[in-house]
Amino acid sequence: MPKITIDKDKCKGCLLCVSVCPQGAIVINEELNLRGIKPVKFKSEGKCVGCALCALICPDCCIEVYK
Ligand code: SF4
Ligand code: SF4
Repeated sequence: MPKITIDKDKCKGCLLCVSVCPQGAIVINEELNLRGIKPVKFKSEGKCVGCALCALICPDCCIEVYK
C-alpha cells in the first residue's frame, strides 16, 4: 500500500502538497514544528495512490513516496 513520509521540521507550511493531492491524504498538522509553523502530515495510507505529485511539487523536498 503506497505511503509517504514528510520531514515535518523542514516543512514551511506552503500547502502546495495539500492542493495537488487528488486523494486528500495530506492535512495540516496542528502541532508546531521546530520552525514555529504548522507543517503538514500524512493522513491515511488507505487513501494514498502513490502518484508522487506531492513530492514533485514540494519546493523543499520534504516528502518521500513509498510504493
Ligand atoms: S503520493 Fe499522491 S495520493 Fe499519495 S499523498 Fe502524495 S499526492 Fe496524495
Ligand atoms: S509542499 Fe513541502 S513545504 Fe509545502 S506544505 Fe507540503 S511538505 Fe510542507
